[in-house]
Amino acid sequence: MKIIKGQKVIYKFKNEMDYIERVKPKERFVVETNDCFFQQIKSEDMTLKELDFDCLNPATGPIYVEGAEVGDLLKVKIIDIEVEDKGVAMTIPGEGLLGDQVTKNKVKIIPIEDNYAIFNGIKIPIEPMIGVIGVAPAKEDGEWPTATPWKHGGNMDTTEIKIGSTLYFPVNQEGALLALGDCHALMGDGEICITGLEIPGKVTLEVDVIKGKYTKWPLLETEREIMVLASGDNLDQATYEAASQMVSHIKDALDFDFEDAYMLASLVMDLKISQLVDPKITVRAAVPKEVLATEKLLEGIK
Ligand code: CA
Ligand code: ZN
Repeated sequence: MKIIKGQKVIYKFKNEMDYIERVKPKERFVVETNDCFFQQIKSEDMTLKELDFDCLNPATGPIYVEGAEVGDLLKVKIIDIEVEDKGVAMTIPGEGLLGDQVTKNKVKIIPIEDNYAIFNGIKIPIEPMIGVIGVAPAKEDGEWPTATPWKHGGNMDTTEIKIGSTLYFPVNQEGALLALGDCHALMGDGEICITGLEIPGKVTLEVDVIKGKYTKWPLLETEREIMVLASGDNLDQATYEAASQMVSHIKDALDFDFEDAYMLASLVMDLKISQLVDPKITVRAAVPKEVLATEKLLEGIK
């Protein structure tokens, strides 16, 4: 299996980028990912002032996927996420949902033993996930720092981007130009204090190309659900976008009028907060696959 090393990273998703590696549809490969601080935090005494802020949220890549063309969907299946044996979390005054109550920059280095994170003596089973993963944005959408989630993906910080899940990204450039980083060994929905359990990783992926299908926002498929991942300036905007795209998928896939699709969504669709702390907020709108199978949803995209 090809191993794509973690040294070559981007800090911005752009429409035109030089790729570092090529992969083929159906190919499995490993991507080494850096933590969101590029491993700069070596001890709990470290302060923010010592950090080089130009090296935050590195994403390994871009990776060129053969056969991916503008107007397709790039399918990315997450086969495995291996994380290192320790990671970092921190608070920063003013940052996160309760930032007004934070009195100091506190850094915690959290060990991981036998797949459990040890936090102040509490053992928590890890659930590794990918924070930043995306493709080249559309030319008209401009450039996006890796810290910000948008239609191309990016820093979506979504707990369900985990082992066994599959992402579908709209392709805006030849080769799609996939890049990823910022794994978390653990994170709760919302990521309220601004970090998850930030950790370097080795991510095994399998990619494929779905020709002639395109969506505004990325899709995410888990064992049980298919969902839209949308971002916005606030929770209302992100929620509206996620719900609107999912209702439109229901309408097109099941050949319903808007009202029936809207009503069905109200019966079965869960809105979940992915994160509240990045430069844009991310929400997911999730429907059980028993109601809307992924194949059906994809068929419905004209
Ligand atoms: Ca993140
Ligand atoms: Zn992170």
